[in-house]
Amino acid sequence: MNSRNASGETGQTLRQRMMEILLRGQGTGVRELSQELHIPEREVYAHLDHIARSLAARGRRFDVVAARCLDCGFVFADRRKLRPPGRCPRCRGTHLQRPQYRIITS
Ligand SMILES: [Zn+2]
Repeated sequence: MNSRNASGETGQTLRQRMMEILLRGQGTGVRELSQELHIPEREVYAHLDHIARSLAARGRRFDVVAARCLDCGFVFADRRKLRPPGRCPRCRGTHLQRPQYRIITS
């Protein structure tokens, strides 16, 4: 096992915990991950990037639950990126349900 660093946890351990959260399977947003793991949102994105890449080879799939406009219901179905869209292309609203993330095991 990795030894703990000054901030308490190694990146490895942190990603392990993040994967356990994502494996619950109901979709977890960046804010929840940030709060549960006690790291800033920008670090959550960095770890998600890494997890999404490293999963490809292991029979598990990283899934992005698409963002959705809370004003008109538009679903950003073709936008399977990690980072949320800025505004809705249909109504131009900025009141968006941000993407959520999960790991699907096959
Ligand atoms: Zn909209």
